[in-house]
Amino acid sequence: MALHLFAATTSQGKLRDFRAAANTHDVTIDPLPGLGAIEAPEEDGATFAANATLKALYYSSHAPGLLVLADDSGLEVDALDGAPGVRSARFAADAGMVDSPDANDNSDVWNNLLLLQRIAAIPSAPREARYRCVLALARDGVLLHTAEGSVEGLIQQAPRGTGGFGYDPLFYLPQLDRTMAEIDIETKLRLSHRGRALEALLRLLHV
Ligand code: IMP
Repeated sequence: MALHLFAATTSQGKLRDFRAAANTHDVTIDPLPGLGAIEAPEEDGATFAANATLKALYYSSHAPGLLVLADDSGLEVDALDGAPGVRSARFAADAGMVDSPDANDNSDVWNNLLLLQRIAAIPSAPREARYRCVLALARDGVLLHTAEGSVEGLIQQAPRGTGGFGYDPLFYLPQLDRTMAEIDIETKLRLSHRGRALEALLRLLHV
């Protein structure tokens, strides 16, 4: 019988990434029922693992008996000592450039602008960066597993491409000579940090 996981996310994009990665396994992934009615917890952990874990524990305690999958992801830039990291979604909001990521549809634009500004302020800044994703799986408020995936890239001097979201127009993949915003969805799914994290989790679950 297929293993049934319930993702604690309202993001269709994340759900699609997870489902694509689970495609070749005996696993079904659905959104957690009633997620919208549960008040979201504060994501105040210092690491991706801490945030993914706190979400998995929290949501699983609201969904008795279900295997609840939670994630946290973001961009780590070496020149900025790993920033924006766990604050990736709120990078510009933290700097007072937008009210909050939820209140402003242009958050991605401001986040990218701030990233370019911060890097430009560092002479000969190294361009290495990575997207990271940590997944946590819990049931009834008990953590069962965590797993991680990442993809390496270089931060561009200027945005390129119209696909993807977030920092994708600045995230350059040398092996493809494209930014993450210039590649097709199948290629993105194949090398996505989320997909890789899910593959790692499924290996731990032996499915
Ligand atoms: P979260 O996992 O929903 O908290 O996402 C954190 C933030 O990291 C997003 O709002 C984006 O800014 C960034 N991020 C995470 N994954 C990606 C990706 O695949 N492409 C572009 N940006 C991403």
